[in-house]
Amino acid sequence: MGLFDLKRRVCYCASGCYVKGILYFWAFLLSAAFSALVLRAPAILWAESAMEDSDFQRIAEPRPGEWLFHFHEPGQSYEDYIRSNPVRISEKRRALVFQPVGPFSHTDRDIISKAAVFAGIWFDLPTRVEQAVKLPQKGWHRVRHFRGHYRPIRQYQTGYFLHELLPPRLPEDAVCYLAITMVDLYPDEQWNFVFGQASLSDRVGVYSMARYFPALQGVALRRSCKVLAHEVGHVFGLAHCTTYQCAMNGSNSLEESDRRPLRLCPICLKKIQWNRGLDSIRRYKKLQAFYDKHYLKGEAAWIGKRLDRIMP
Ligand SMILES: [Zn+2]
Ligand SMILES: [Zn+2]
Repeated sequence: MGLFDLKRRVCYCASGCYVKGILYFWAFLLSAAFSALVLRAPAILWAESAMEDSDFQRIAEPRPGEWLFHFHEPGQSYEDYIRSNPVRISEKRRALVFQPVGPFSHTDRDIISKAAVFAGIWFDLPTRVEQAVKLPQKGWHRVRHFRGHYRPIRQYQTGYFLHELLPPRLPEDAVCYLAITMVDLYPDEQWNFVFGQASLSDRVGVYSMARYFPALQGVALRRSCKVLAHEVGHVFGLAHCTTYQCAMNGSNSLEESDRRPLRLCPICLKKIQWNRGLDSIRRYKKLQAFYDKHYLKGEAAWIGKRLDRIMP
């Protein structure tokens, strides 16, 4: 299964998720002149990527079971990204809006609220979490038996969220509108499950925390932050990173997802810096304060080391 499926207008760009409605291929062909203009970004945007990158590890040769072993993705350079004409904010549309769907415990809701704050810092955008809405009782689901689970699992089809639930409710101020649910998801009969799916053309997505919870609170928060950073990154047009160990790496399992670091490599950071006009030092400091507050010690320590290296 390749990255582009033009016939079905599906891009299998996923962390157990796949992203629909994006045609990098056509964007690539049409955008050479456009890129000549926008590649001239302000100097501040280049600061991070111009640094040496010894704080970042190159991705290792993929092993059986890992995402890149099974999905031969070509990667996306900074220039590819600019040419793809990714989603950007506008005066009217600049909020990240999260939509809980289905039942949540008090603890789950608390973790999602914290992860939404984190996403706001990561992308430097206002965020909010809407009131939860219910799942449909009929249709849009199947029941599957999985090895290791003694009870069958009810899975909801992502199409319900992407085509039925979210588009009519898309808030006017939302640059992306993302459903979060605790039920397991599948896109179609070819897949056992997915962590999520996004439709870039509609700026909507759905992500399941079902396979991330239950876990210790710190672990659950780290997983939630990772999934929002990764999936909102897709909505902003970032493809999977195939160069460095990075928040934008694809993952084929919970174990692989847990190994993925909660940081952007220099290439992916440069893309987001261009898209959002971010000051990376200010962003690192705010992320560090968030990690300190929520006892994400490894992440806070990495940023401390990074800031020591890059601060003037
Ligand atoms: Zn992905
Ligand atoms: Zn990357």
